[in-house]
Amino acid sequence: MHENEFPSGVQAGTLHVVATPIGNLGDLSPRARAVLAAVDVVAAEDTRHSGALLAHFGIQARLVALHEHNETQQSQALLSQLQSGSSVAIISDAGTPAISDPGSRLVALAHGAGVPVVAIAGPSALAAAVSVAGFDALPVSFYGFLPAKAKARREALVALLDATGTLVFYEAPHRIEDMIADLASVFPHQRQLVLARELTKRFESVHRCAVGDAMTWLTGHADRTRGEFVVVLEGAPPAGARDAFGEGQRVYGLLRESLSVSEAARAAAKITGANRSTLYAWALEQP
Ligand code: SAM
Repeated sequence: MHENEFPSGVQAGTLHVVATPIGNLGDLSPRARAVLAAVDVVAAEDTRHSGALLAHFGIQARLVALHEHNETQQSQALLSQLQSGSSVAIISDAGTPAISDPGSRLVALAHGAGVPVVAIAGPSALAAAVSVAGFDALPVSFYGFLPAKAKARREALVALLDATGTLVFYEAPHRIEDMIADLASVFPHQRQLVLARELTKRFESVHRCAVGDAMTWLTGHADRTRGEFVVVLEGAPPAGARDAFGEGQRVYGLLRESLSVSEAARAAAKITGANRSTLYAWALEQP
């Protein structure tokens, strides 16, 4: 259902959570522009970065910083301003605030104090990546950034082996290769994934392939590891639909954490009824 007109002006004593572009400046909505131009205060993750965005649109705003290091204290100060009738907008460096970005603390405080919170909806890398991935399985589970340390990252992935639905991760360019290597060492190689890179930007690419082929593609050209990534991973099939070989691969992945290749393959075949030599041959091909 669409409404032709958005309310003109902003509401006093209201927190406006405003989405800004994830690359393409054309994605800043007319409504977001109007709100950012009209509110009393704009709380921004990085005032310099957002100052440049606002200047580009000719918007003069009173900017204050709200980032992970001052979020507790600054959220309280902004709440006081909201309670005394000021209109406040919150923006992050890119996309929708409070999604792997600062903002949720202020939003929670506002709810707690009975201050109205409105979404000025727009770009988010999460929604953009899911929309171009082509997976329809629910739930769509969003994990944000995986742990930076290799051991913790692998453990986090192993814990997701049985998760059904569609799994979404954010990843930084300097860690994308390590992350894809870990995905390939944990998940069955036939699972599909999508690497959504530089969405809405000049060098945007959306590549869908099997988990087992992702590393070859990623390292096939230097440009493919550059930029910002969302990784969308096909979830596990529902328990009733798993075949013995698929189950064997899954259990092998778990056992391989602590057993040798042959021990893990033998035990996985025994547990699941998968053909032992087929499973062993597959296991030998895993990185
Ligand atoms: N709150 C933001 C949002 O809603 O899109 C996300 C902020 S988070 C700190 C930044 C991460 O989002 C990046 O490391 C990347 O994983 C993802 N991201 C942001 N912009 C992107 C883009 N244009 N293309 C692909 N991923 C992007």
